[in-house]
Amino acid sequence: MAEHVEVLLSEEEVDRRIREIGEQISRDYAGKKVHLVCVLKGASFFMCELAKRITVPVSLDFMSVSSYGGDTKSSGVVKIVKDLDEPLTDRHVIVVEDIVDSGRTLSYLLEMLRSRGAADVKLCTLLDKPDRRVVDVRVDYTGFQIPDAFVVGYGLDYDQKYRNLPYIGVVNFDSPAQ
Ligand code: 5GP
Repeated sequence: MAEHVEVLLSEEEVDRRIREIGEQISRDYAGKKVHLVCVLKGASFFMCELAKRITVPVSLDFMSVSSYGGDTKSSGVVKIVKDLDEPLTDRHVIVVEDIVDSGRTLSYLLEMLRSRGAADVKLCTLLDKPDRRVVDVRVDYTGFQIPDAFVVGYGLDYDQKYRNLPYIGVVNFDSPAQ
């Protein structure tokens, strides 16, 4: 099936908002160090841009959990594909996510990370689809709340495509010609 992408949030809007979140985190964590945990692969673009906008000391780690694959519906199955390299003990952790949809992935992940002895674990997401929530998840920093649509760009993919778009777009699936 063919698809095309329509701009939802421009590069300028996304950059401006990331700058604001970086400033807010820098204020909230004044005098502390933050440990950013990036959920691969989707959050990688956001995490890099965000890290550059934070003025307190930052360390980074990465983990990968199973997600959509080639489909656009959440399976609800969460599997750790790559775990963190470093322990979280006594750290001020911010989990950086691309998008919170049903909340299933994050609710599992946050519970698991909170059991590892961090000083605190907060959640920062570039995008949030509150209408789609199935499991309650507290989001501490949100870039944008968006409607229920399948989005790509800025790290988010459809079937591994479009991650490199510098903006957030909505995927429209063209119906075959009659
Ligand atoms: P949840 O567990 O909250 O339903 O799903 C979270 C994960 O589903 C995200 O990290 C992302 O990988 C994927 N996801 C949810 N909505 C979208 C979307 O609109 N576009 C893309 N590309 N991935 C999505």
